[in-house]
Amino acid sequence: MNQSVFAVRSWRFSFRSKIISLFCFLFDFAIPAFAQNPGIAWHYHSTPRFVIAYREADKTLAIRVLDELQQRQQQLAAQLGYQPQRVITVFLCPTQQIFDRMTGGVVPHWGEAAANTAQWRIFLKTPAASDTRELLPVTVTHELAHLCLAELATPAQTLDVRPNALPRWFNEGAAILLSGEPRYSDPTLISRGLLTNSLVEFDEIDDLLSFHSARAGLAYAESYHAVHFMITRFGADAVRQFAQAFGAHNDARKAFHAAFNEDLWDFEVAYFDYLRQHFRWYFLLDESFLFGMVIVILLIAGFLITRRRARRKMKEWEKEDDGEEQENFPPEVDESKN
Ligand SMILES: [Zn+2]
Repeated sequence: MNQSVFAVRSWRFSFRSKIISLFCFLFDFAIPAFAQNPGIAWHYHSTPRFVIAYREADKTLAIRVLDELQQRQQQLAAQLGYQPQRVITVFLCPTQQIFDRMTGGVVPHWGEAAANTAQWRIFLKTPAASDTRELLPVTVTHELAHLCLAELATPAQTLDVRPNALPRWFNEGAAILLSGEPRYSDPTLISRGLLTNSLVEFDEIDDLLSFHSARAGLAYAESYHAVHFMITRFGADAVRQFAQAFGAHNDARKAFHAAFNEDLWDFEVAYFDYLRQHFRWYFLLDESFLFGMVIVILLIAGFLITRRRARRKMKEWEKEDDGEEQENFPPEVDESKN
């Protein structure tokens, strides 16, 4: 297996990639050990903050993932102004079946990776197990960001208490922003949502896991821009402030008010106004829209050219007919033959 696929790859913005791009699955319930036995002998490699479980054949990849986790952990700690303390276990699943077993079969078909905040685990697929045939560092960072946020949202930072489940718009938006993923920030998704009046409200985003992939893509994009808007409005520390306030209050509106002295519903209204003001016309840049426009323009041009030619021909015939009428008398009809 080629291990070099674990490298940062620029993401092509295209309508197709938006629809088929794969998302993370976040869950906060424990999967019992008996349900997870995939029948393989895991090898383990540990550092003070991480344990990585892998199959012997994936050892090189496991060490690279572990290096990435440690580097990204430091960056996330600096970004959030908080040093996570939990030990996180990362499973590098060599097949889709083993990924399904390890996650208790709860991950939808579009789930490319998963984080479990009840057991502080991350489940990744090796490139061989993935539909995309690659494991992106950004995917690893995204899952790690979820667990850092979960630790921030743990009540009173007592490590033996389960973290409160953050609102999904915030959790996904912050994880995308912290991991620097460009693939979910595409403004044309929002613009098309505005055009078709199909934007997803914050409360609805909580049901993201039941969405089909196109609607999930829109929900991820909205989540990312909502957290970006939140930082613009309340400052660079807004993510940590809200996550910690949520740890104390376990209620989105109370936490939002405690963190920013603003009602969450007012913020949501302001956010949707911001989207209408700034994203309305981005659909004009959408590849599929542009492709459709080119086809329509070609069809109209073809129609106009054909009509013009036909008219010119008609005029030529009319001129020829007029000329003949002036030069020749109409043929006489011999009625006696009938
Ligand atoms: Zn996620």
